[in-house]
Amino acid sequence: MASHGAWLIDLDGVVWLSGQPIDGSVAAIEQLRANEVPLLFVTNNSAPTTEQLLHRLERAGISAGEHEVLTAAQAAASLVPKDGVAVCIADGGVRQALEQRNVHIVNGGEADAVVVGWTTTFSYDTLATAASAVRSGATFIGTNADPTHPTPTGLMPGTGAIIAAVEVASGVPAIYAGKPGEAMAALVRARVGAISMVVGDQVATDGAFAHRLRVPFTLVLSGVDQRAHDEVLTTSCLAEAVSLWLEKQ
Ligand SMILES: [Mg+2]
Repeated sequence: MASHGAWLIDLDGVVWLSGQPIDGSVAAIEQLRANEVPLLFVTNNSAPTTEQLLHRLERAGISAGEHEVLTAAQAAASLVPKDGVAVCIADGGVRQALEQRNVHIVNGGEADAVVVGWTTTFSYDTLATAASAVRSGATFIGTNADPTHPTPTGLMPGTGAIIAAVEVASGVPAIYAGKPGEAMAALVRARVGAISMVVGDQVATDGAFAHRLRVPFTLVLSGVDQRAHDEVLTTSCLAEAVSLWLEKQ
């Protein structure tokens, strides 16, 4: 069998919704593995640490290694200088990624960067701290622009909504590190060679990321985007995307 390029698979809205596996997704991933297709799970969720993400995959029935996971937290941290100083407005995943680069996290004052990612404890005080550091010249890095994220009960505010608040308060636009940004693309290129497919549930995020990488994209309708887009290949879910692709190999 010819060797295949990697599949870059989004998690939220593709593999699971709020941690509950989407019908057929686990079997579809097993099918790809059975056909020796390299996999890379690429998520704009910056909340979990790598270990937490691997644990979630395991609980869903997918065993994966650290080298098969990329998060917007890692992409954001890659833009902060090693051994630098950063204000971090984000939960665990971003903190871990910064610490792995030996970045010193401060609660205000002089900093090389302000990194804003997923957090459920955003407040007026954290907004003020972040905006002030950005106004003082710190590089403003956002994990991802996703305005919402899908849950079984509907769309909830996403990290993009939090970053937008800091953009308005500071008057400075963020550099977005996650999909479809260049920082994430650079991490992907460093991790895998040829790419066969990007699959995701948002044209604006996952589709634009595939476009940046110049590789094919399949939209699944199991997450945020509920309607087919004329310009992209659309399937109901990951299982359908995988079976259509394998038929053609
Ligand atoms: Mg998604």
